[in-house]
Amino acid sequence: MAKHIFVTGGVVSSLGKGLTSGAIGLLLESRGLRVAIQKFDPYINVDPGTMSPYQHGEVYVTDDGAETDLDLGHYERFTQARSCRDSNYTAGQIYKSVIDKERRGEYLGRTIQVVPHITNEIKDAVRRMAKPGVDVVITEIGGTVGDIEGLPFLEAIRQFGNEVGRQNVLFIHLTLIPYLRVNQEIKTKPTQHSVGKLRELGILPDILICRTEKPLGEDVREKIALFCNVERRAVIEEIDLAESSTIYELPLVLVREGLDALLIERLALKGDGPGLDEWKRMLRALQHPEREVSIAVVGKYIHLNSAYESIYEALTHGGVANNARVIKRKIEAESLEGADAAAVFAGVDGILVPGGFGMRGIEGKIRAIRHARERGVPFFGICLGMQCATIEFARNVCALESANSSEFNADTPHPVVCMMDEQRRVVNLGGTMRLGAQECRLAPKSLARAAYGCDEVSERHRHRYEFNNAYRAQFEAKGLRFSGLSPDGKLVEIVELRDHPWFVAVQFHPEFKSRPVAAHPLFRAFIAAALARKGVR
Ligand code: GLN
Repeated sequence: MAKHIFVTGGVVSSLGKGLTSGAIGLLLESRGLRVAIQKFDPYINVDPGTMSPYQHGEVYVTDDGAETDLDLGHYERFTQARSCRDSNYTAGQIYKSVIDKERRGEYLGRTIQVVPHITNEIKDAVRRMAKPGVDVVITEIGGTVGDIEGLPFLEAIRQFGNEVGRQNVLFIHLTLIPYLRVNQEIKTKPTQHSVGKLRELGILPDILICRTEKPLGEDVREKIALFCNVERRAVIEEIDLAESSTIYELPLVLVREGLDALLIERLALKGDGPGLDEWKRMLRALQHPEREVSIAVVGKYIHLNSAYESIYEALTHGGVANNARVIKRKIEAESLEGADAAAVFAGVDGILVPGGFGMRGIEGKIRAIRHARERGVPFFGICLGMQCATIEFARNVCALESANSSEFNADTPHPVVCMMDEQRRVVNLGGTMRLGAQECRLAPKSLARAAYGCDEVSERHRHRYEFNNAYRAQFEAKGLRFSGLSPDGKLVEIVELRDHPWFVAVQFHPEFKSRPVAAHPLFRAFIAAALARKGVR
């Protein structure tokens, strides 16, 4: 039977529960255990797919096509666990499922209530993660203890603990220990209150992970243990990482605090495994790179870091694989409109245009792509970035003036990117795009084929528009290569330029499958090309 770890958060939001949950997953894997990680989000939206990046940051896509919280990206980067639809449930999804059942008459006329119907639905969602072969399921509860909307989730995990037996469940509470600069004091009271709140709800946390700016000191640890009713060694210090360090150091911080051993002991698991050698090798490469490369990311939500979380991480991974530090130059696409591209991109070794939706910034992205194409700067286009690359090629190489995507101009005479027939009939906005992993065949002797080292790959999608096949022959004749197609040949997945050092644009999202210990092949190849370019600059 799988064991369960529930991770809650206290005092403030944004403490890094997602990263910590991912790191806990890695610690368990380092002990030879198989983990599955899941997140509950207490908001009412059915999924984050329709939410603005300003509200939510990146929407992370799973192989089976779920649009999910970006914390799932951390889970997949830290561990080998693959996420799926069951890895992320919102309150909206839980309620919707209960209401749908009620409409179908499945409750046989009973009154439907938060307890037990909503809480049962939540517990079922936890159980779905405990598939055969999984040793530990980690479930992160989004939000902060004390939020009204989080209550059904907390009640459900309390019940769950009783049902499967306390020896099979661990409650971990991530909390903030603030430091008051004026009187130079570390304060434990907010944590005492937060744990008190949990206890009121019937949850007795087993382990407290304390985010802190200053080392806790023995007296503080003892005080927390005493007032929060945990063992002294279950007070784990998670000290803020230095600005120069990386999120991938977090697992080692927790090992130093003895968290891995404690987890194994408290869940009565066998704990001999491969250790963290591979992870430590990656960290050494990341922290002591031999060289440096500068990559411009031209996007629309550029001042919002979390909007391109997986892109930035995948670039870092590509750097690790090439022994190089990747300096990310974040460029607001709109700022390029009317600007001198040569001046903006001076000192840049590669340009990446990520995915996105809507008109704003499109012309700036096209300008960046033109610069990359004409000046031989390595270019990597992703999803909308690929669509913009084809628009740029249509306008400036094929002389199809005012070519566009029908997403931005429904009346363009040259819709080089358009909606496929089946998509035109869709009226719902949520969950109706081309979503999830699909196969792609690679052309022999292409840059893509060389990067992947195989003939067929599977990559995750999230888009509504496609390259318009009516323009294939014309583009091909002018030097654009269609180096990746869907197995039936109908959908363009990858385009690249024939006469260019490295210009590859993909309709899918490779960034979701990149890991620090296994960089995505296209990111690895892109960084290698940028380093080569730097060599000749
Ligand atoms: N807006 C484009 C589409 O829907 C691209 C989407 C994306 O970049 N994820 O097809």
